[in-house]
Amino acid sequence: MRIHLVTGGAGFLGSHLIDRLMDAGEEVICLDNYFTGRKCNIDRWIGHPRFELIRHDVTEPIKIEVDRIWHLACPASPIHYQFNPVKTAKTSFIGTYNMLGLARRVGARLLLASTSEVYGDPEIHPQPESYRGSVNPIGIRSCYDEGKRIAETLCFDYQRMNAVEVRVARIFNTYGPRMLIDDGRVVSNFIVQALRGEPLTIYGDGSQSRSFCYVSDLVDGLMRLMGGEHTGPMNLGNPDEFTIRELADQVRQRINPALPLIEKPLPSDDPRQRQPDIGFAKGALGWEPTVSLEQGLGPTIDSFRNLLALPGDAAA
Ligand code: NAD
Ligand code: UDP
Repeated sequence: MRIHLVTGGAGFLGSHLIDRLMDAGEEVICLDNYFTGRKCNIDRWIGHPRFELIRHDVTEPIKIEVDRIWHLACPASPIHYQFNPVKTAKTSFIGTYNMLGLARRVGARLLLASTSEVYGDPEIHPQPESYRGSVNPIGIRSCYDEGKRIAETLCFDYQRMNAVEVRVARIFNTYGPRMLIDDGRVVSNFIVQALRGEPLTIYGDGSQSRSFCYVSDLVDGLMRLMGGEHTGPMNLGNPDEFTIRELADQVRQRINPALPLIEKPLPSDDPRQRQPDIGFAKGALGWEPTVSLEQGLGPTIDSFRNLLALPGDAAA
């Protein structure tokens, strides 16, 4: 049995990862500052002998004996990472620096939750890991994009200088139960709006694309990457690509096809297209997503229905 530290463990992805680790019989320490995480995401484990909870901010150092560090702490939704962009940059840079320092001291392996945002507004489609990206270093998304880029740099320099074992996952848009109602990302926004009977907000003309991965597939990919021999960076995501308008239509069809769409201004630097090339993950880990958008939307909608306490067939 290994001791796992999950930073950002009370958040969306972190809490699903903790469920998988706990179900596998591992010992888990969840570390979070609760900026976008919630105790209710991990409350089933509170009091369990193999589970510990630490309120801590990764921008401060911490000393703790662990074998594996899953470094997920960082707000992921544009509205949250833009709320205090300097803090976001600090979390990515100093937070990753602190966690790599810890990994070096205790000989732990560290997995960084990086992002498709390192490719910026990509000129190559789909995006392979070899693509170096097209990131605006001074725009409103830069605190996150450049933060993750320096976090990746730190991982590889700690590996070269200090032989720290690192794993770098470039995660593409992932969705599922436990996203916040006010998370601001497109899947949760559309579902919450549709369940409330409100118009769905399309930013720009809705022709921009994203590729949506269901959370269970993503967690499976993270587990394989951490357990395997490949450092990465490795794309993890579902290559099925949809325009934002297509996503809105799928959500409307399932909840209330009569709902209108309204266009809102496209935020600056919003990437036009995004689709992972997952050839590396397929070959190296034998991993590929198994849950289609159609399949994943069902449990996601149900979870928001429960959160909003709406009757099951309210809008059908
Ligand atoms: P989330 O906002 O639900 O989770 C982030 C967690 O980190 C929260 O619990 C938050 O409270 C915590 N946190 C933030 N700053 C912290 C700090 N300074 N110290 C300690 N804890 C802190 O987001 P998520 O979707 O679960 O994303 C988790 C990780 O995966 C992030 O690093 C994100 O960049 C990365 N990622 C996610 C996606 C996605 O589609 N979900 C895509 C690419 C990358
Ligand atoms: N988007 C939208 N309506 C919303 C929220 C987002 O049209 O209510 C768009 C957003 O402009 C972007 C895409 O959906 O083009 C994905 O946005 P999200 O914030 O989910 O993720 P990211 O842009 O970081 O990939």
